[in-house]
Amino acid sequence: MTEVNGQDGPRLTSQTAQDICGAVTRGEESATSVCQAFLERIAKVNPTLNAFTTVAADAALEQAAAIDRNRSALADLPLAGVPIAIKDNLCTRGLPTTASSRILAGFVPPYDATVVARLRAAGAVIIGKTNCDEFAMGSSTENSALGPTRNPWALDRIPGGSSGGSAAAVAARLVPLALGSETGGSVRQPAALCGIVGLKPTYGRVSRYGLLAFGSSLDQVGPLTRVVRDAALLMRILSGSDPMDATSATEPVPDYVAALTGDVRGVRIGVPRRLLDAGVDPEVLARVDEAIAALRDRGASVTDVELPHARYAIPVYYLVATAEASSNLARYDGVRYGYRAPLDEHADLAAMYDRTRDTGFGAEVKRRIMLGTYVLSAGYYEAYYLKAQQVRTLIRRDYERAFAHLDVMLLPTSPTRPFRLGERVNDPLQMYLADVFTVSANLAGIPGVSVPCGFTRDRLPVGLQILGRPFDEATVLRVGDAYERATGWAQEVPPALVS
Ligand code: GLN
Repeated sequence: MTEVNGQDGPRLTSQTAQDICGAVTRGEESATSVCQAFLERIAKVNPTLNAFTTVAADAALEQAAAIDRNRSALADLPLAGVPIAIKDNLCTRGLPTTASSRILAGFVPPYDATVVARLRAAGAVIIGKTNCDEFAMGSSTENSALGPTRNPWALDRIPGGSSGGSAAAVAARLVPLALGSETGGSVRQPAALCGIVGLKPTYGRVSRYGLLAFGSSLDQVGPLTRVVRDAALLMRILSGSDPMDATSATEPVPDYVAALTGDVRGVRIGVPRRLLDAGVDPEVLARVDEAIAALRDRGASVTDVELPHARYAIPVYYLVATAEASSNLARYDGVRYGYRAPLDEHADLAAMYDRTRDTGFGAEVKRRIMLGTYVLSAGYYEAYYLKAQQVRTLIRRDYERAFAHLDVMLLPTSPTRPFRLGERVNDPLQMYLADVFTVSANLAGIPGVSVPCGFTRDRLPVGLQILGRPFDEATVLRVGDAYERATGWAQEVPPALVS
């Protein structure tokens, strides 16, 4: 067993992105030495965690060297020399992008996703691609064609999903920053289960160009970090309109870092208490209640709030998301990208499609394509898809009503602690139900962050979820940061990792 913080005191790999950028900008560290330190730690720890699908050592060192050669430009780079990991469903020019699916084996995009291009322009170093549930469909990272990722706090447990590789990498200090994507909780939930910070932005806040689409009306890219301040820093870089994504918003981008005042006096907090009555792990609920009390002690007001349609969120989400997925995934046909099934000489075009999709997609992805095709088919469309869209509007209105007299809403991110690898793989419904507290933010399009709020008795991390008004990431981050400062959970380190 190797301690994450060794005898040599606080390591480079334990510092925040802001500190690393400061050290590089001041010339105390070179981007190259930072990159090498993280690559060494990845080489040591990743074989145990399986957080990365690709470690881009050569490309990262080249990028770092280019930053070191151009020192006069550093002052303008908000992430100068800071390594970042990118979920493998975001396109990276020259680096494999597979969404952890066999069907994209060998696909190397000729372009960067807009978020990746923005990171490069900010001086960040793309150090690799991270493991996820195939096409971001799942809550445990077990649906990856490349094997599951392990939770750094308990190696026999799941890191959450679908951005489990990104969350585990940040928690284990393999990178200070990572990008994930959300359709129904895939940034917030793994952040909670790995004891780090994960933000889902308002729909449209961040460009989706170059994100492999799952549910286009739900998808957003979001940051995973160890401290709220780094999430704010990233949001300033990622946010803003993009001509390549017609759904990206033109809303001005505030200074999210400046919003972190540490002050929550007068903040109006709502707690959907009735939702928490059943099915929540009592230790998870206890930690969240302590967090709510801590914010009340610092001057926030707390009231109960009703979300009358919240109990429909899971069925609505699994109708809308699968319908959109069945359409989005039609493009993987063995012709245009990645994998094509080996064929015998009699195979015609239909057989080629058939075999490629049958052997290229994993079981969960095929289950969703079938569900989605069913709910969109003639005769069922009105009863399922249309009805789901109508209820989605009711869910959104619940939030609009609630936020008319609230600033944020607090609840657990996940109803349970991280479960054991393999425990739920044969029970998809049980897996879907674990998304109960996250999917409605995606249906309503509102922002939410998960911040660490302590541990269960068996030392597994618990996440506090803070939801906010559309385009009010600033308040969500301010409350998260104030809570983080008051508690110091961000300093906790996974106790041991097999070397
Ligand atoms: N767990 C949810 C699902 O399986 C959410 C996934 C996501 O947000 N990408 O669909």
